[in-house]
Amino acid sequence: MRLTRLYLPTLKEVPAEAEVVSHQLMLRAGMIRKLAAGVYSYLPLGLRALRKVEQIIREEMDRAGGQEVFLPGVQPAELWEESGRWAVFGKELLKFKDRHDRDFCLGPTHEEVITDLVRHEVRSYRQLPLLLYQIQNKFRDEVRPRFGLMRGREFGMKDAYSFDADDAGAERSYQQMYEAYSRIFERCRLRFRPVEAETGAIGGSFSHEFMVLAETGEDSLVSCTACAYAANVERAEIGPARQASPAEPERPLEKVATPGMKTVEEVSRFLGVEPRALIKTLLFETEQGPVAVLVRGDHQLNEGKLRRHLGCDLLALASESMVEELTGAPMGFAGPVGLKARLLADQAIRVVRNGVSGANERDAHLVHVNHPRDFQPATFADLRVAAEGDPCARCGGEQRVSRGIEVGHIFKLGTKYSEAMGATFLDEAGRERPMVMGCYGIGTGRTVAAAIEQNHDEHGIIWPVPLAPYQVYILPINVKQGAQREAAEGLYRELTDQGLEVLLDDRDERPGSKFHDADLIGIPIRITLGDRALKGGRAEVKRREAAAAEEVPLAEVGARVLELVRG
Ligand code: ATP
Ligand code: MG
Repeated sequence: MRLTRLYLPTLKEVPAEAEVVSHQLMLRAGMIRKLAAGVYSYLPLGLRALRKVEQIIREEMDRAGGQEVFLPGVQPAELWEESGRWAVFGKELLKFKDRHDRDFCLGPTHEEVITDLVRHEVRSYRQLPLLLYQIQNKFRDEVRPRFGLMRGREFGMKDAYSFDADDAGAERSYQQMYEAYSRIFERCRLRFRPVEAETGAIGGSFSHEFMVLAETGEDSLVSCTACAYAANVERAEIGPARQASPAEPERPLEKVATPGMKTVEEVSRFLGVEPRALIKTLLFETEQGPVAVLVRGDHQLNEGKLRRHLGCDLLALASESMVEELTGAPMGFAGPVGLKARLLADQAIRVVRNGVSGANERDAHLVHVNHPRDFQPATFADLRVAAEGDPCARCGGEQRVSRGIEVGHIFKLGTKYSEAMGATFLDEAGRERPMVMGCYGIGTGRTVAAAIEQNHDEHGIIWPVPLAPYQVYILPINVKQGAQREAAEGLYRELTDQGLEVLLDDRDERPGSKFHDADLIGIPIRITLGDRALKGGRAEVKRREAAAAEEVPLAEVGARVLELVRG
């Protein structure tokens, strides 16, 4: 492709609306343009990078036994009513009516449609296992679309669905997808980590997210510095707290006046103690009745863990009046000592010595609170959000928290959809059974953006070769100069004939701006043709990430470039 023909509207300035570097660079490098909040058009360079990701995914899905299908983006409400998700999916589901007043939505995901397809065609265990996938746009009316392709409303996804005859089969399918995903992100040359994940609204029994490690990621992941354990922070388990040794001696319980001091910050400042010495008492309303939960002042309750521990659907912070009723004091002074409510505690509370808690009395706290002398929770459990330095649940090692971009997500769904929607088959004994399902997603546009987050410098993108929209950039310094033009055209033909994807910068522009654009769009290999080197029959070959160029005889440039592309 010639730069004089390429539709490449680059930008000089960093667009104000773009907060993260991938979004900035995609706009500046003429890859994408915004149409509406979270809705983007792909321009030629952007689309070529996207197609590279899609092709890698396709090859690995096919290798894992997948078959590609293409399902409609518009989905009828009836299917979502069958699965029970029409009412509960929430505002991300964009609903609308057709001219006959029938309800439809724009597909945010395709479990319903695929389950419907398969239930009509699959009758026998002989037709299983089945792995179907598609690469298609989804629509989710995200509350905060941002970061360009990273969190769009209309966005590209590869979604795959597996159907197996039994649990063991479903687990094999899951494992195959886990391996396929690892290969995909390796082939994209991303630094990533699979982490244990929450199953969220889609439901199911186990799941992993594939996280690309990047400071700008919206997700936090917890990983052990000593063993292989890694999990999304929403999910991450924490090992038992260690007792300080030697343990501080217990001091006598005492009530102190804390007028108007309600928050952890206020109380710890007022009493001159560390937040970690405080015992926070959080009161919840659940369908099982009120529950009080204790967490250390510097810790954060993980509502997902609490919900799972209790096995409840309703979990709401208690109202002001309920707090008063339970504690006899206004909000901010609740404490475990003498509290008449079901009491749970995070495991770190077990080793708090001479702690501080509310006194269940207006403007008062207790100091030197100790377990089990002063209070006895019904259970200690892992109920808090994992934080830097927490002990690993598997090996006791130290956990670290880092940021990541979720590019892929795999779920074992079980029979949630097949049971709700009647996707059954006849097993070998002729019994009717629900298929056991899995679903597996990769954000294609998000993967492109994640690759840029990990591969750029102050001048622009540094494409990993497998994702690069073009592999080679030929840059004659002055196209008016006959020898340069001829050498450039010759190399362009030669490399293109070898099957390489080549850009030829045939623009009559200042060299500075050509180098600038070449760096901005980040093509992995640049061949520069200038008078001085050409006199010696040479061209300059430079890898985008390298500091220096190498001089290569013109006749050897083709071979050298191929080596660099394949290496
Ligand atoms: P998130 O927590 O980031 O909203 P999700 O859990 O809703 O993601 P899934 O339903 O598992 O996402 O979708 C599969 C994949 O689709 C995700 O791993 C992600 O790569 C991609 N994806 C999800 N939402 C978006 C979005 N708004 N924009 C771009 N890609 C997305
Ligand atoms: Mg989401």
